[in-house]
Amino acid sequence: SETGCLSIVVLGASGDLAKKKTFPALFNLYRQGFLQSNEVHIFGYARTKISDDDLRNRIRSYLEKGSAKSEEVSEFLQLIKYVSGSYDTEEGFRMLDKEISLHEEFRNSTEGSSRRLFYLALPPSVYPVVCRMIKLCCMNKCGWTRIVVEKPFGKDLDSAEKLSNQIGELFEEPQLYRIDHYLGKELVQNLLVLRFANRFFLPLWNRDNIDNVQIVFREDFGTEGRGGYFDEYGIIRDIIQNHLLQVLCLVAMEKPVSLKPEHIRDEKVKVLQSVMPIKDEEVVLGQYNGDEEVVLGQYHGYRDDSKVPDHSNTPTFASIILRIHNERWEGVPFILKAGKALSSKKADIRVQFKDVPGDIFNCMSSNHSMRILLDHSIRKSMSVKQPGLEMSTVQSELDLSYKQRYHGVTIPDAYERLLLDT
Ligand code: NAP
Repeated sequence: SETGCLSIVVLGASGDLAKKKTFPALFNLYRQGFLQSNEVHIFGYARTKISDDDLRNRIRSYLEKGSAKSEEVSEFLQLIKYVSGSYDTEEGFRMLDKEISLHEEFRNSTEGSSRRLFYLALPPSVYPVVCRMIKLCCMNKCGWTRIVVEKPFGKDLDSAEKLSNQIGELFEEPQLYRIDHYLGKELVQNLLVLRFANRFFLPLWNRDNIDNVQIVFREDFGTEGRGGYFDEYGIIRDIIQNHLLQVLCLVAMEKPVSLKPEHIRDEKVKVLQSVMPIKDEEVVLGQYNGDEEVVLGQYHGYRDDSKVPDHSNTPTFASIILRIHNERWEGVPFILKAGKALSSKKADIRVQFKDVPGDIFNCMSSNHSMRILLDHSIRKSMSVKQPGLEMSTVQSELDLSYKQRYHGVTIPDAYERLLLDT
């Protein structure tokens, strides 16, 4: 692994993502020894005028969770410095560069070259200008500089390409990391292993044996103050075209040549190229309404969110069938469903197998499926003999629940893994 002074800069440090995800993920990496206090320094940058301690106090309660000790939290918070400045002028970025350089000089006794990681926890509208400022003022002179950008990466093909070109003019592709945190989830990472390291699945994973595949994301809460952001994008851009489509690629792709990122990317691209245009009659869109009958949790409608326009028709629910036109999947619907403010919370992949031909047991609906629940279990339904004297069948399950199977193992948050990879 690399050594040397590491500066992690969280731009938009005053925001929601930074306090809820970025800083907690960095803290957990620190606790597990992946970030050494003699090498790493973390800088928060945003326009809000606050002191180092103000920022530390803002994020403290998000770190003091689970088994975290308050001394550990305090030690970690001491690694954080805050610089305030605007996103579109050089002044703030020059100041930031000065602070980073000071840290690098102070640490120059450690071995290895220096590393600068810029994490853009910012609205995408400012990505281009912030990247320009980093390029102009904050490049590392004796080691790497990397940029992490969040979703949404544009709003449609034109804006995504425009953004790609704008950032691409400034940085080389290997310096750029587009985060899709779904890919960091333990069970999403497990998909490759399940599919390609189990002889059992290899001959079954195709149109001869699989009836349909459902990839589902349901949230049991609404926009909760993020209605302004959400209304610009809607559920398809927010969840389906990135997270669920990535999962679909992993479920449907052929075996990559190796685990190299380029090889995996190549196979994903082939899946996407084989997807047929979506038919209108295979799409359902919806938007949640308020429900006065529901006593629990005062159910507000989407348009009751003060940041959502009164006549918005942005979908908060979508169910879409994708059809993959290739030898493996012809005729198998891939049903992608995502919704906010639904009756339950879940994220899972259900692979539904076809019924057994020539059934001699009268299994009326055998419902053979495999479910990969992203909250950490894998379940394979089975028909088995009902225990007892009679010869009747019953539905049961092989159940790999991580909590039961892996005692005392902490499953890392998706952001931790992705930041570590970066
Ligand atoms: P946010 O809280 O709205 O914005 C982050 C910070 O950016 C704010 O504290 C603000 O800092 C600055 N900012 C806000 N609006 C701005 C504007 N119009 N122009 C310039 N600066 C502005 O956003 P977030 O929820 O943290 O999300 C950051 C990024 O992560 C976004 O791209 C979002 O789509 C993505 N993301 C968020 C989540 C999440 O759970 N929040 C999940 C996945 C992805 P100052 O005013 O102090 O400069």
